[in-house]
Amino acid sequence: MTTLPVFRYHPEPLATGSVVPSDAPCDCCGRRRGFVYDGPVYAVADPSVLCPWCLADGRAAERYEAQFTETEGQVPMEIRLEVDRRTPGFHGWQQERWLTHCEDAAAFLGRAGAAEVRRHPDALADLVAEFGEEFCAALDADGQPTAYLFACLHCDRHLAYADFT
Ligand SMILES: [Zn+2]
Ligand SMILES: [Zn+2]
Repeated sequence: MTTLPVFRYHPEPLATGSVVPSDAPCDCCGRRRGFVYDGPVYAVADPSVLCPWCLADGRAAERYEAQFTETEGQVPMEIRLEVDRRTPGFHGWQQERWLTHCEDAAAFLGRAGAAEVRRHPDALADLVAEFGEEFCAALDADGQPTAYLFACLHCDRHLAYADFT
């Protein structure tokens, strides 16, 4: 079994669906590593297949001048570069937002529906304040509106935002 690279800010990319099993060769390194990235690529010339290893070591970002998400808020440039250019992104209904807390990027846990969000009352409170109770009860990890759940790497805080088409 292949061990995937470790992504500090996206610890379970197989669980979130941003990395999927595939025998397709990576456009960047040409190798068939058994897994490919399945998320947004913001680049001038989009590579069609990227392996998680070329994401992790920054080769894909450099070669295609690509970024895979966009960090929101104030964090040091080195953290912004790691998240935007060396971390698998994820598909949202709108432009994805990568949340931050304690002056660091947060770890992305995945898309979440009403039941998952309710397990994290702090994240739920943020969403209720922004969208109201009824909206939050309709959250659906596989449909929409969808919540995107994050965890701070420094304190116990969970964070979330939600979107829809
Ligand atoms: Zn590769
Ligand atoms: Zn925090």
